Amino acid sequence: AVKTRFAPSPTGYLHIGGARTALFSWAYAKRHGGQFILRIEDTDVARSTPEAVQAILDGMAWLQLDHDEGPFYQMQRMDIYKATIRKMLEAGQAYYCYCSKEELDALRESQMQQGLKPRYDGRWRPEEGKVLPEPPKDVPPVVRFKNPQDGVVAWDDMVKGRIEIANAELDDLIIARADGTPTYNFCVVVDDWEMGVTQVIRGDDHVNNTPRQINMLKALGAQVPQYAHLSMILGDDGQKLSKRHGAVSVMQYHEDGYLREAVLNYLARLGWSHGDDEVFSMEQFCKWFDLDHITPSAAQFNTEKLNWLNAHYIKTLPLERIAAEVKPRLAKLGINEIQTPDLLAVLNLYRERANNLNQLAQEIAFFYQMPAINEADATKHIQPETAAYIESFLEKTQDSDWTADKLHDVLNQVVTEQQIKFPKLAMPLRVALIGIAQSPSIDQVMSILGKEHCLQRIRALF
Ligand code: GLU
Repeated sequence: AVKTRFAPSPTGYLHIGGARTALFSWAYAKRHGGQFILRIEDTDVARSTPEAVQAILDGMAWLQLDHDEGPFYQMQRMDIYKATIRKMLEAGQAYYCYCSKEELDALRESQMQQGLKPRYDGRWRPEEGKVLPEPPKDVPPVVRFKNPQDGVVAWDDMVKGRIEIANAELDDLIIARADGTPTYNFCVVVDDWEMGVTQVIRGDDHVNNTPRQINMLKALGAQVPQYAHLSMILGDDGQKLSKRHGAVSVMQYHEDGYLREAVLNYLARLGWSHGDDEVFSMEQFCKWFDLDHITPSAAQFNTEKLNWLNAHYIKTLPLERIAAEVKPRLAKLGINEIQTPDLLAVLNLYRERANNLNQLAQEIAFFYQMPAINEADATKHIQPETAAYIESFLEKTQDSDWTADKLHDVLNQVVTEQQIKFPKLAMPLRVALIGIAQSPSIDQVMSILGKEHCLQRIRALF
């Protein structure tokens, strides 16, 4: 059975690259009816923080990338790693190395002087017929993995194709530090093995770890998983994605007015394609997703395309879903009372033109609170003769129904009688009702806003 995992180190928020890795791992499991694990790799105690753990959990929850197992925390699994190290020592797959820092520095120095790549020379590596030095009393040893010295380690990377590394290139990795704590690469190996991971999908910054991890997995008698190393994500400008490019944390996108549906759809297309399909649900994605259609080259972030998708989903998702996203954003503008007018009707009218939830909330705020009048718009559109047009409009609507159709008729009547162009009446009304001279069709705005509010606002100006 397929089992994938997302294994972030909690040293910062969940960033766009991590979210894409998580999405691909999650989708791969879904596609194959498998399981998806969340594993927090928190062994770098100095750099891991509880806030970062929370940020990752929040990001995953927001994107609804639900895990079937976990979250596991490596710091809670120390016993398993330590027991495995003991077993490997007993089986002769690992050994104690008593080299002091000074010794290793000297070794490094001399190798560099000879123009060699610095690497551990295996002086404590036990071999048939080799006599090891007497362990010094005062040096707590590290444990090294006895990496094979001959042959190659190879794998068919599901993204990058076949990769082969000569074992002679790899030295004996430290798997436990002098204080007994296991090292990063070793924990990953034990976990992938012990958790039964079948596909490791991760960023290609880990591709150099893979040959070492495979050798250790083999030593443990583990089934070696398949590997898929995803290329990195570049910013709009082709440079490595960083804060400079705006939001890099997925939660920042949430904050900035993006729908998860848009972000997920966007991430899915970041380095993966399905013909010309650009817009699809996660349900659809999980049916299509495969590792064959991932581009090995770097993917470039395109904010415009993300905005376009956001606009698409704002326009097409159920109104209730948009309402749920807009309510807290209205609350941030001080609007907590949104009984009337009906938010769904308001959104139905306004979402056509929106590509951002924050912008949408701002645009509809006037339905729920008195707008500030834009002075420039007022000066431009309200002229001495305007009051007469407004009076005529008010008079004609006195007994009429306050529906968009009816209001539309009345507006036309006034315009015809006064022999003016439509904006001469509509623009001043907009300024009075909305504060600015911009809105969807004014009759619809008026009908949703309701007679009482409309009259009150118009009276305040005229
Ligand atoms: N913890 C690693 C990271 O956050 C990922 C390790 C892995 O996926 O094997 O970069």
